[in-house]
Amino acid sequence: MRSGYEAVIGLEVHVQLRTRSKMFCACRNLSGAPPNSLTCPVCLGLPGALPTLNEEAVRMALGLGLALEATLRPRSTFYRKQYFYPDLPKGYQITQGPVAIVEEGHLDVPGDPRVRGAEGPVRIRIERAHLEEDSGKSLHDLDAHHSHVDLNRAGVPLVEIVGAPDLRSAQEASDYLKALHRLVVGLGICDGNMEDGSFRCDANVSLRRAGDTAFGTRVEVKNLNSFRFVRQALDHEIERQAALLEAGETVLMETRGWDAAAGETRGQRSKEAAMDYRYFPEPDLPLLVIEPEEIAAVRAALPELPDQRIRRWREAHGLGLDEAQTLAQSPAFAAYFETLAQLSGSGRGAAAWMLGEVSRVLNERGIGIEAFPVSPETLAGLVRLVEARTLGFGTAKEQVFPVLLAGEGSAEAIVAQKGLAQISDRGPIEALVAQVLAANPGPVAQIKGGKESLKGFLVGQVLKAGQGRLDAKLVNEILAEALAKS
Ligand code: ADP
Ligand code: MG
Ligand code: ZN
Repeated sequence: MRSGYEAVIGLEVHVQLRTRSKMFCACRNLSGAPPNSLTCPVCLGLPGALPTLNEEAVRMALGLGLALEATLRPRSTFYRKQYFYPDLPKGYQITQGPVAIVEEGHLDVPGDPRVRGAEGPVRIRIERAHLEEDSGKSLHDLDAHHSHVDLNRAGVPLVEIVGAPDLRSAQEASDYLKALHRLVVGLGICDGNMEDGSFRCDANVSLRRAGDTAFGTRVEVKNLNSFRFVRQALDHEIERQAALLEAGETVLMETRGWDAAAGETRGQRSKEAAMDYRYFPEPDLPLLVIEPEEIAAVRAALPELPDQRIRRWREAHGLGLDEAQTLAQSPAFAAYFETLAQLSGSGRGAAAWMLGEVSRVLNERGIGIEAFPVSPETLAGLVRLVEARTLGFGTAKEQVFPVLLAGEGSAEAIVAQKGLAQISDRGPIEALVAQVLAANPGPVAQIKGGKESLKGFLVGQVLKAGQGRLDAKLVNEILAEALAKS
């Protein structure tokens, strides 16, 4: 970032709720069904059809509000936001009016030390999270001459989370978005699929002179459907605005789209020309009234939140922040880790396998942990053997893990059958160390002359002589003793 300027960023995030039915009708809320098969007079906007509010969506919004330590409004309102677009059959979107169900929450994220001047978390305020309905989908590239409309998504419940302009760099914005993503996935209210648009983000960004309190003119960047795009688009947009300001020009208040292929933002429409949505209260829906008992019930059913879990794991297992965050990526991944840590008796060992070999296989096969063929019980057997130093890590990875992956037997059985158990008796290791020292008088003399780095070479020779089955830590110890004595 160019010196002398400060970036100010606020994100608007749309979260598709995983309810069984749509927001105002009984149609199923599913993706992947044949086009226009999940529709009814209500979500098609046929005259006379009346909306009925989905209580499950309300409970999900309340759960989110509790997790964000927000104010839950006992009375909130619905409004009509009017605009014309082919995928909006009613001609208006029902969204929450001046009072939203969730207001004034916050989320703590790691601050960006490069712009904050210090390490440590920062608190990002959340202005509101309101309920609304999604539009259908316009499909422009099915054929060359026509656009198509699929209304299966019309009326799917959304929560829009409006963050305060409290973020100060692209990195912070992406960290905030990741924390929100973890949260809604962890709460089980969203599937988190950014490519399919179940979790979408618009970013508002402006620049001001360092030290100024007033905000500069903001630009809204749309089409940010991955964390990487958020970082890239904001970094690019910050540079673009800085260049304009340095050249003495002004930033135009407008909406820009991120063009991932070109690596730049492009102007779409100016905000001055923004349309008037002619908001007015939705006459077909009553005031949304929340009783304290409903909040209590939602609170009682709340799972452990991802950030609480991350904190607990870091304390219990001594994990790094990145490691713990990756393990908490989804409830299923977290649950697998939790079971593996418990059954193997080693949080560190379990984490190393989950972040290493297990993730590698999931990525290679393009599957989630739900489809991982090895159960935590079976993998725990392997982790235990490595932690007990009965089995070397390399041997475990190369010779035992693939067999488990193929679904054959337990780690204990494979190790016994193939004779892979690690040698951790002193006797045989001492014998091999003596052999290697005798065969390498040159290096031994150099080590004695101060060339400590050659020790690694000798350790390698001993391990090789032991065909990868020796306990490396013990080899190091015994070699050091032998050198001291010789
Ligand atoms: P709109 O209705 O045009 O989307 P809002 O007032 O709801 O406007 O604000 C939308 C988002 O813009 C919020 O996330 C807020 O944090 C952000 N925002 C507002 N002002 C600025 C600014 N000057 N710079 C960056 N972001 C801003
Ligand atoms: Mg906006
Ligand atoms: Zn419907």
